[in-house]
Formats: sequence, C-alpha cells, structure tokens
Amino acid sequence: MTGPAKRVAPIPTPLNREVEYLDVQRSPTVLCYGVGVDSTALLIELVSQGRKPDLVLTADPGAEKPETYAYLDLMRDWMKQRDIEFHVVRYVTKRFKNYPPYADLAGSLLTNGCLPSIAFGRSSCSLKYKAAPQESFIKTWKPAIDAWARGDKVIRYIGYDAGKRDSQRYSHAVTIEDPLFDNSYPLRLWGWDREACENRIRAEGLPVPPKSSCVFCTAMKPDEVRALPDYWLRMIVLIEARAAPRLRTVEGLWRRATRTRPGRMTDFIRTEKLLPEADIEAIIASAPTSLVRFQEQASHQPVEARPTLETWLERFHTQDGRITA
Ligand code: SF4
Repeated sequence: MTGPAKRVAPIPTPLNREVEYLDVQRSPTVLCYGVGVDSTALLIELVSQGRKPDLVLTADPGAEKPETYAYLDLMRDWMKQRDIEFHVVRYVTKRFKNYPPYADLAGSLLTNGCLPSIAFGRSSCSLKYKAAPQESFIKTWKPAIDAWARGDKVIRYIGYDAGKRDSQRYSHAVTIEDPLFDNSYPLRLWGWDREACENRIRAEGLPVPPKSSCVFCTAMKPDEVRALPDYWLRMIVLIEARAAPRLRTVEGLWRRATRTRPGRMTDFIRTEKLLPEADIEAIIASAPTSLVRFQEQASHQPVEARPTLETWLERFHTQDGRITA
C-alpha cells in the first residue's frame, strides 16, 4: 500500500526569492512609497486585497515638485483613513566640515559646487537621499527588529511594474541578496504595466500622480521644467552656475545636448524665457561668488554659531539672484 505522495520542496532559483502571497503574514511588510504612479497603484491594490503594509515610508530629498508634495498630502489622508502607519524620512547630514549647515540635497549641491550624481550616470544621490534614510528608519522599527531577532526577514514591497524599463531594473535588483529584506514585486506578479497602474488609481477615485523626481534631476523632461515655479528655476540656474567651474565630462544637469534639449537646463530656461534674461545673468554673475564668500566667512566660526545655508538662500530668493554679499 502506498501512502500519500510526499511534497517535494521546490528547487531554489533566484525567482523563488519572490515572496508568495501565502507567506506575507509571517513577516512585517514595508512599502517604499515613491509617490509615483507605480507605488501608488501598488499601495491601493494591496490595501484592497486585505494586505495592508505594516509600514509605508517616503524618502524626501527636499526637492520634489510642488505637485508631488500636494499628492503626498492627499495620500497621507488616504492612508490615515485606513489606519496605515506612514512616515516621511530624510537623510540628515551631520558633519559639515567648515561649511554652513544645510538641510537637503539642493543644499549639498550648492555647498559642494557639484551636480547630483545622476548627471554623471551614477545613482549615489538616490542611494543616499532615498534608500539610506528608509533603511535607517526600518532598523529602528520594532517589528523589524523582532523579525530579525527570530531569524526572519522584513518583506519590502517595491513598485516595479511589468513594463520594459522596470523589467531591466528588476532583472538587476533580483540578483542582489539582502540579509535583512526579502523584496517583493507584486505589480510584476499581476502583470501590471504603467497604464494598468494608472487605471487602478483612477478606479479608486484618485487622480494619477505626476512623475516624482527632484526638480533638478537629469530625468526631468522639458515639459516638467516648463511647469516649475520661479523658485526652482532660479535654483536650477544657481546649481549649474555654482558647479560650472568643476564640470569636465558633462555640460550641465541634462549632461550633454541632444536633438530635443541642451545639456544645461539653464540654456533651456533662457531659450524658453521661463525667467527674465536679466535675472539669469544676475544669478550667474554674482550668486556663486556671493555664496562662496558666505561659506568662507562661516568657516571661521564654530559649527553651532555658523549661519545656515538657508539664511543665504532667503536673501538669494528675495533679491531675485542679485545677491552680492
Ligand atoms: S530623483 Fe534624481 S536627483 Fe533626486 S535623488 Fe533620485 S536620481 Fe538623484
């Protein structure tokens, strides 16, 4: 007589590291919410399936578009109504050497006279200002600490969709072994591309969010730059003017000119008359010099007595870039 057939354990392959639906109850779940189309659709659908994440985190580099912050407020309320734990996290610079203290990625670029690493084809700005603060928060989150203590991993939901571009990112991400996290890509299991995500958001009665990125990111499209408020247009001109003396391999935030746009966003802002020509010239002529002088004066004071970069930026914006001291 033969007994019941024995269950054969599946042979481990990289894909077996995907977390199956039935497993999600055993470990705490975190959604890294980027406020874009994919992660918004993912959040909505997980909740509607009764798989509410235990924690939702958004990393704020301090330079998202105003529409993205408005959308974040909308989703903050949406999550609150569903009793979802949600936090905005930020990378906090602690060591300023001799520089005036600054608070965000734009401050770092202006202080160091550089462009975000994405402009050079690297991704350390995203790792530092988005991935790292989320991981730091999770490392202090009790459900994660308890899970790691009993040998489990935290399940991290990532909103890569089933489209071509995210498929490439997924192919790379899935090869990376993480001792603390099991990454889960539900949109891919559902076969949802960008359009399916947009439809799911609309079906929830919510507007489709704008593409989220820093306003000075190389990934910004010309139409997105056109829509920026003067505050950020002036900041872009300032960032490129401040970094210009050190640029060797790229022309500006858009790297190099293409058929559809110049390498410098400043040139685009000028050609499109998004700011008055005189304001652009004034920023380029006086602001970087004024900023460096401000930094030098601050460097003689102990860090707790130094004026912050914010104090200089307030003067820069109230004087439309015509700043000389
Ligand atoms: S959005 Fe762009 S500039 Fe901002 S952190 Fe990410 S890659 Fe860097």
